[in-house]
Amino acid sequence: MKTKELIQLIRTDNLMKFYKSKEWRELRQKAIKRDKYECQHCKRKGKVTTRKTLNKYGKPTKMEVNHIKPVRTHPHLALELDNLEYLCIDCHNIADGKNEMINKAQPKFVNEERW
Ligand SMILES: [Zn+2]
Repeated sequence: MKTKELIQLIRTDNLMKFYKSKEWRELRQKAIKRDKYECQHCKRKGKVTTRKTLNKYGKPTKMEVNHIKPVRTHPHLALELDNLEYLCIDCHNIADGKNEMINKAQPKFVNEERW
């Protein structure tokens, strides 16, 4: 997928097409393997969180691949492995919140990273 196409998807609010693309799915898998199936933010805090970690409800943790620099503001980095990190849902929400403060003018799309 070219950056130009991706910008078009952002403009037309069709980012889910990006998240469904083969390119993204493959890169996502690479990021997960590179990060050894562990949440990278928890890891920095000396904690191991994987899909198998049970949360306070006794359910497996939801994990997601995050764009460190958001796709909407940095579409040219959308398919860069270095711009990806594997996170648990808690850390992802915190990271998203931070991004939102940076991009206050950007509309919020709750589901954009859930694909
Ligand atoms: Zn985490």
